[in-house]
Amino acid sequence: MNQLPPNAMLVRWFNALGIPHDYGQRRQLSLCEESKTLVPIGHDVFERPQSMAPVAASAWQMMQTSAEQDGVVLQVVSAFRSIEYQALLIQKKLDKGQLIEEILKVSAAPGFSEHHTGQALDLTTPDCPPLEQGFAETDAYRWLKSNALEFGFVESFGKNNPHGLIWEPWHWCYRPFLISA
Ligand SMILES: [Zn+2]
Repeated sequence: MNQLPPNAMLVRWFNALGIPHDYGQRRQLSLCEESKTLVPIGHDVFERPQSMAPVAASAWQMMQTSAEQDGVVLQVVSAFRSIEYQALLIQKKLDKGQLIEEILKVSAAPGFSEHHTGQALDLTTPDCPPLEQGFAETDAYRWLKSNALEFGFVESFGKNNPHGLIWEPWHWCYRPFLISA
């Protein structure tokens, strides 16, 4: 999450995807460093293996267990994503004919996604379509709103957030420093 020096790979991706170079500044988003260490956290709802940074992974496992004890099932949709993966995700949407301005309302630019840090999670719960705002109507979301902070997780992109991203009730990031601050 620290500021990184401008990075040649990132500039190349930005140029290739048509993302303005002042994106971070304009969106009040910081560069997110890729986690150097990752540990497996099992499979997501699409049966893909997922991983997180070690401390965040432990916090996630504790949170998931605690939710389960309260009768709430939390499932992973996506955890760590590399800068390259994020870029390819956006490329895929461009290939489908979406405009970059529209894409950047739902996806952070490569280099600016909290998923790079290995501390962010997209969550869902059974009978809820992944990555839809309907998640906010579920018991799982209500449980997270009451309990996630205890485990160091915060909802990064609330309603009308200053980052130009839609409300993402499914996206939670491990940021324990917010508790001690
Ligand atoms: Zn996310």
